[in-house]
Amino acid sequence: MEHTHPDYGLYPQFAGTAYGFLSRGCPRGCGFCIVGEKEGRKTVAVADLDEFWGGEKEIKLLDANILACPDWERLLGQLADSGAEVDFTQGLDVRLVTPEKVALLNKIHTKMLHFAWDNPEDDLIPYFKKFLELTTVKDKRKRRVYVLTNYGSTHEQDLYRIYTLRDMGYDPYVMVYEKPTAPEETRRMQRWVNNKWLFYSVKDFKDYEPGGYRKMKGEK
Ligand code: SF4
Repeated sequence: MEHTHPDYGLYPQFAGTAYGFLSRGCPRGCGFCIVGEKEGRKTVAVADLDEFWGGEKEIKLLDANILACPDWERLLGQLADSGAEVDFTQGLDVRLVTPEKVALLNKIHTKMLHFAWDNPEDDLIPYFKKFLELTTVKDKRKRRVYVLTNYGSTHEQDLYRIYTLRDMGYDPYVMVYEKPTAPEETRRMQRWVNNKWLFYSVKDFKDYEPGGYRKMKGEK
């Protein structure tokens, strides 16, 4: 399917956006993720951009871990040369950031960067700081970081990642593993963080009252 240009005439709602993969697979093998099993524990290049992009204004890249691909330079170069706005929808692996990779990312017309801080035991702060020093993406709303919850982390560990990311200049976004089993507190925290108006108005989770938010917005 990587070699097929979809007939977007069948999906008028997606006009102007190209969806596709340049690489597949991921070496990490995170326990909650199916990518390694489905696509392999190695990232390999599977297509060239012109196989699924035909001049659309926007590209939604679906690659799981393009920075782990040995061909990252060629593939990121194709994205840069396209001049299209690129949304890295699935997460860039911040542990694999190097000055050379960020220099190439800086040439891409970036619509959205997504990273992840899934395991609270991993100290990713130095990597996030390094990326900030190198990137030209200055809008923190474009520097989104997925924060996995309800997968063995405590509430305090969840809040720690959320506050740390926000304070560093990233935009955290809470993902809840197996939502039906998640504690009410976790679901409430997800509503608070992912509603960006709320998140940037109410600085501390303990001050977030779900019922009070309509009042704050002046709604009845
Ligand atoms: S790094 Fe991302 S894509 Fe790779 S296994 Fe972990 S969650 Fe999945």
